[in-house]
Amino acid sequence: MKSFSSKFRFLLFVSLFSLSYFAMADNKPVSKLTPIPLPKTLRVESSSPLALVWETLTEKEKHLAYHLTQAGQAGRTFLFYESHPAALKIRDVLTKAFAKKNLAQTKQIIGADAFPEFIIYAAKFLDGGGPYASSNRKYILKTTTPDKISALLNAYAPKTSKADQTEIVALLTDVSYQVQQHPDGADGAGLEDTGTNLYQKGIRGEEVRQAVDKGTLNTTLNCRVERGKDGQLLCPAQTTNSPGFIGVTLRNIVKSLKSAEKYASTAHQRAQMEAMVKYFNSGNIDDFRAANIEWVQDRAASVVDFMIGWVEVYEDWLARIASWESYVQIVDRKISLTAEALAKKAQRFEDGMPYDTKYKKTFPKDYSPPAIMVYYFQEISSFRSGGYNLPNFDDIRRDVGAKNVIRLPLPGEDKDPEIKALYREMLEAFAPANKIDPELEAREKVWQNIVLMHEIIGHGSGTYNQEKYPNNVDPISALGSLGSALEEERADLAALTFMSDPLLIEVGIYSNSDEAKKIRDLSYDYYLADFLRRTSGQRTFSESHQRGHWLAVNTLLKNKAIEWIAKDGKSKATVDNQVLAVKDYDKFQQVVRNLLGTLQDIKAERKEKALQDLFTDDAPLDAINSAWAQAIIRRGEDLKINAGYVEQPWRISPNLKYQTLGGKTLESVAPFWEAYYR
Ligand SMILES: [Zn+2]
Repeated sequence: MKSFSSKFRFLLFVSLFSLSYFAMADNKPVSKLTPIPLPKTLRVESSSPLALVWETLTEKEKHLAYHLTQAGQAGRTFLFYESHPAALKIRDVLTKAFAKKNLAQTKQIIGADAFPEFIIYAAKFLDGGGPYASSNRKYILKTTTPDKISALLNAYAPKTSKADQTEIVALLTDVSYQVQQHPDGADGAGLEDTGTNLYQKGIRGEEVRQAVDKGTLNTTLNCRVERGKDGQLLCPAQTTNSPGFIGVTLRNIVKSLKSAEKYASTAHQRAQMEAMVKYFNSGNIDDFRAANIEWVQDRAASVVDFMIGWVEVYEDWLARIASWESYVQIVDRKISLTAEALAKKAQRFEDGMPYDTKYKKTFPKDYSPPAIMVYYFQEISSFRSGGYNLPNFDDIRRDVGAKNVIRLPLPGEDKDPEIKALYREMLEAFAPANKIDPELEAREKVWQNIVLMHEIIGHGSGTYNQEKYPNNVDPISALGSLGSALEEERADLAALTFMSDPLLIEVGIYSNSDEAKKIRDLSYDYYLADFLRRTSGQRTFSESHQRGHWLAVNTLLKNKAIEWIAKDGKSKATVDNQVLAVKDYDKFQQVVRNLLGTLQDIKAERKEKALQDLFTDDAPLDAINSAWAQAIIRRGEDLKINAGYVEQPWRISPNLKYQTLGGKTLESVAPFWEAYYR
């Protein structure tokens, strides 16, 4: 499970869509499928803060990180492979087109008017590992014409067949061709018209469903559905023995992992690597499970921590086949200690929860789930996350535990003028004028607290009536699409409810009750601006986290704890100038507390009708069409924060020197894409 509850939900609006299809099922999608327009500008996020993180490592840790990032780099090719059958070819053409020696010719082929759009398309494609945004919609070229894409293919991939050429041109320029990466619905309807390469082309959702139900098709996390010679569906696991580039890639990854083993920080970490090597050789999920167990048991002991493999099933409509991802993260020991201290207070938070004692958890005396606060050193995934909580195997979570990985902003980021400007622009659009400066100043503290509380206290809290959920079925999956929205908001509401709790002073997060109250108030202010910003970026309330936010915000409005006011606080409010403001902070706290109780009650007793009614009444999806929401969307159209960013390429040389490549503009980094994305 990945989390979006960090400041990255501001920077990366595209990542916020990735769960949207969960929330779609309870209501019809609001509009017909259209591609996502490309942003007009795209920021290159500096990779130089990573150098500061790198320099904190010991020589041995550097060796370890080097080999792990080599493994990650090798696996990147799977992202493209899984997103679309033509994505690897397109990647090759794009990286070639921007190579130093070809840049002038590419500009000539594309033309001066279309080039700015084309380079943004290429940056998004390479950064996201394929043609699709994580909202499950493709990006589209508008100024760059089909004949220019054909000319580009002739120049850089002259052997491309006619059929492939037609497909690639349509994928990049045709507004109705394979708009989605995967079907939205759990029935897989329309699978054959989507781009995904987790299923061989031509296979229909219906036949997959039937084969799964009959038991003739067995899927695993690491397989791809193909049609066998006799027409039957198969899902062969991908291993080092797989033919072609899959076997080659996995053998490269294994080689790097074996090199890394020598530098493992702990016995558990070494065992994690050994199990991963076994897994890639055998394809056996038991080896992957073993690796996950070692990873959880390693807790926060290794400064260089990693996760690699086929992990999350968000991109499969069946929710069975996983997508590739890899992370190398550097643990911040000091902040991780705060997280640990917070986890140790879980029982006392639980005692203060606004629900019946019979739904309160009793934690073991020494309870402290591993939670690491990390710098993401290398993130290779089809979308960026604010953190993750793994493994996804329920029995391991129950019997061994799970580990929280929470992403920290890179050192110095709060002082980076470019990032500050980004947030100022966002707050100028969505916050009352008198709150902009205080919110900017407290932003990092506010988010760190919300993320910590959301992950460690929120998700960890509460129990449920086991009779209502037979056979150890996880309540969230049993509650269906609204279950995710409920659970995400439950965690947020726990964070908001306890934002100024004296326990946070005990843990050392605040120095005194004045600071606690100040940060609580600013968190409430910020939560409202964040909601408007997300509304503008997502253009829908269907994504699970945002659906939950909408429920909370609407409940606060109905209870008059918050109100619409003109940005300047004086003029008459209109849809074009209005923002949300807190009327009464204590009332805000009371309302979120009550809502937390309601959501817990629904979850605990599996009140499906109440869940359905609550979201229909207080978080309606069609509210996105109302005048206020459309005005918010317009206001966010050109915000830099909504455009997202691409990473400045970097590398570590074999003699362990960290080095950034290119500068701050897309054109200056583009010549390095060939080395970075292949
Ligand atoms: Zn969450």
